Formats: sequence, C-alpha cells, structure tokens
Amino acid sequence: LVSGRDLHKSFGRTAALRGASLDVAPGEIVAVTGPSGSGKSTLLHCLAGVIAPDAGTVTYRDHRLSDLSAAARTRLRRQEVGLVLQLGQLVPELTALENVALPLLLDRRRRAEAQAVALERLDRLGVADVAQARPGEMSGGQAQRVAIARALVTEPAIVLADEPTGALDTVAGEQALAALVGAVRENGAALVLVTHDNRVAAVAHREVELRDGRTDAVGVPR
Ligand code: ATP
Ligand code: MG
Repeated sequence: LVSGRDLHKSFGRTAALRGASLDVAPGEIVAVTGPSGSGKSTLLHCLAGVIAPDAGTVTYRDHRLSDLSAAARTRLRRQEVGLVLQLGQLVPELTALENVALPLLLDRRRRAEAQAVALERLDRLGVADVAQARPGEMSGGQAQRVAIARALVTEPAIVLADEPTGALDTVAGEQALAALVGAVRENGAALVLVTHDNRVAAVAHREVELRDGRTDAVGVPR
C-alpha cells in the first residue's frame, strides 16, 4: 500500500533519517519504535508526504509522491492518509465537531453532510458528548480521541499516528489506543503507530525499530 525506501532527511547538520525503509500492507498494523531523536516523527512525516525526503522514495500504490504535482500530492494525502500528530493538535478555536468535520470540508463535502459524518465518527469513538466543546475544555484523553476521529473521518486507507497515547495516563491511553485500533480494523485501514511504549507496540503485527535514522525490523507477526 505504502512504501518508503532508503529515506534520508537532514535538518541543517542534523541527519534525522539515514536510510530508513518501511513497507505497509493494506490492513497491517506496524509499530515504529526507537529512542527519542531516532527519527520516528520524521519518518512518519515523510510517509505522510508533509515533508519531502532528501533522498529515497515514498510510493502509494503505484504513485511516487515525488512524481506528483503539489496539488495531486495534497489530494492523495486528503483521500488516503489519516494523520494523528504528536500531541494531538486540534484547532483550538474550533469545537470538536468542527475539528472533525474540517477534513471533509477541505474535501468539498457539504457542511450539513460533513457535520453529520463527523458526529457519527465522534460517537463511535465515545466522545459525542464533547462535540460542542473546544479542545481547551476537554480532558487530554477526550482531545486525543477527537484527534483520532479527525484522522479517521475521511476513511483513509492508512492512518499514521505519532505517539497517540504519549501524553495520556494509562487508562486514557488504553482507551484511546483501543478506539484507534478498533476503528482502523473496522475500516480495514493500515496503521503505522509511532510509540515508546511496549504495551502499545504489542497491538501491532510487526515492529520496526529506528536507531540513528536507520530502520531495523525487530518484530515478527504476533
Ligand atoms: P521523539 O521520540 O522525541 O519524538 P523522534 O524519534 O520522533 O523523537 P524526530 O523528531 O524525527 O525524532 O527527530 C530526529 C532528529 O531530527 C532529532 O535530532 C531532531 O532534533 C531533528 N529534527 C527533527 N525535526 C527537525 C526540524 N524541523 N528542524 C531541525 N531539526 C529537526
Ligand atoms: Mg517524535
């Protein structure tokens, strides 16, 4: 489905990726682990097409991201990818419902329909009761589930989630993770899960470890 091959990326003098590769099959759940600064977020952002690698290729089905126009890349990202950023990152001025409806509006769906779909998605993640709340008025766990709802609302083929439980306590983290994995399975989507946490990695079919910007597959299917 998605394939990153031999990716390199530097920020000034910092080499964040130095030959990272990751293939994700449809419906597969892959955990990406590794110490802080090993390049996990950078790898995820390259796979999502939000940053371009200096070298190496990212391919969606048969399309190389670097061969697409900026417009085509944006369209592919909106249609195929659901992104859960590190620390959630909802738009603070918008309600939960408006945050979740946003990707649909960007995709030119009508407002009433977008809101109905967004509300149903919030409900499935167990946070319909905070639909009219703004991020500052929610708990961390609720905000994270809203961020997951936003990533899933377009029914993407792949969800890329950066530490989706990182900022949460154990109970809220387990609930958010269960909601994410449940929703991904229900949609038949693939999931790449960046995490420090072994218990989180345990839900994956496979684990890939990053060390100094290089990948190394450590896991076998569970
Ligand atoms: P963490 O577990 O702490 O989130 P990570 O594995 O996600 O870490 P990255 O965020 O990918 O690590 O960063 C890899 C390296 O690249 C780090 O040394 C980081 O400081 C550097 N880096 C990442 N993004 C940028 C940026 N936009 N500008 C400059 N340096 C960056
Ligand atoms: Mg990171």
